[in-house]
Amino acid sequence: MPRRLFALLLSLSALSPAAASAQTRPVTDAQVQKVHRSALLIDGHNDVTSLTVKGYDLATENKGGHTDIARLHQGGIGAQFFAAYVGANYMDGNHAANRALQMIDTIRHDIVAAHPDTFAFATSADTILAARKHRKIAALIGIEGGHAIEDSPRLLRDFYQLGARYMTLTHTRNLSWAGSCAEPGNRGLSDLGRQIVAEMNRLGMMVDLAHVSDKTFWDAVAVSKAPVMSSHSGARAVSNIPRNMTDDMIRAVAKSGGLVMVNLGCEFLSQHSADTSPWINPSLPKDAKCARASIDDVVAHIDHIRKLTSADHIGLGSDFDGIECTPAGLDDTSRWPNLTRKLLEKGYTPAEIRKIYGANLLRVMRAVEKTARDLGGHPF
Ligand SMILES: [Zn+2]
Repeated sequence: MPRRLFALLLSLSALSPAAASAQTRPVTDAQVQKVHRSALLIDGHNDVTSLTVKGYDLATENKGGHTDIARLHQGGIGAQFFAAYVGANYMDGNHAANRALQMIDTIRHDIVAAHPDTFAFATSADTILAARKHRKIAALIGIEGGHAIEDSPRLLRDFYQLGARYMTLTHTRNLSWAGSCAEPGNRGLSDLGRQIVAEMNRLGMMVDLAHVSDKTFWDAVAVSKAPVMSSHSGARAVSNIPRNMTDDMIRAVAKSGGLVMVNLGCEFLSQHSADTSPWINPSLPKDAKCARASIDDVVAHIDHIRKLTSADHIGLGSDFDGIECTPAGLDDTSRWPNLTRKLLEKGYTPAEIRKIYGANLLRVMRAVEKTARDLGGHPF
């Protein structure tokens, strides 16, 4: 059956009252609030740093954007990984490390130091829990784009010391030591790439496989002694784009003890959105708008990963303020309780929801920290 026809039949069956009543259970607002508050909600990836580095203050309304302090509180966020995102263009002329330092500074200076009543800087599972205890949002650093280290494990160690706790090995370009999923050739890790993964293990920095080529994914899984993760990807079986993971990849992440943090970009979530997106299909007019995904599409990724593995290997990595199109119902970071409602209606238990929302990432961080200690790396 053509995929689109199949998808149409699926969506029609989802609309029929009989199917709906079979799949959902009634949930009260009080239940949603209770379960939502009981979870430590950790968002694996947020790009509002691309605005704060240009002077935007999170205490003011982020008009047209997805993230500000008021909405983080409304959404019940407990910890946020902020992206120290380094555009691939900074590779030209070797400006990538400079840019990474500026992005780290905007997290430490413009976000945490400027708003000490809201945020507490965190670099470990324990410091995330300490922030929670003090009723603050834990703010963490994730480097997006391995070109930030300019081919040098020394810079990797420097970024670790500044607080970076994951690094995506690539962004949209191949590096000398790792391949990107956005470039042809499906390049793998070089010897230097394997050394860098080993050094991330020794330091206690999570190996983030968002944005890598399939070959680099498998090479990194083979090398890493600690669980691997993706801070913002989804399932390719649900939306077939290179940024999402095949079923075999998702099983490999789970086998390592890691997790896949589901991206909220419409193209990641829904095949129909991907098929109508000029970003995925460069032949479409640049200003074409992709079809909007829904909160049900988010649940479809969670369902799929749970079916392949278990609720132990799922997380949430919104990519807010780094994506153009967000799903209806999860429009910005204030709307996370809507996801809690959907998952409860679908029959997810509060314990499963707490794992997906944050406990899984805490477990992975602890495992990565333990591997670092075992390898004689950085003492926490
Ligand atoms: Zn990204």
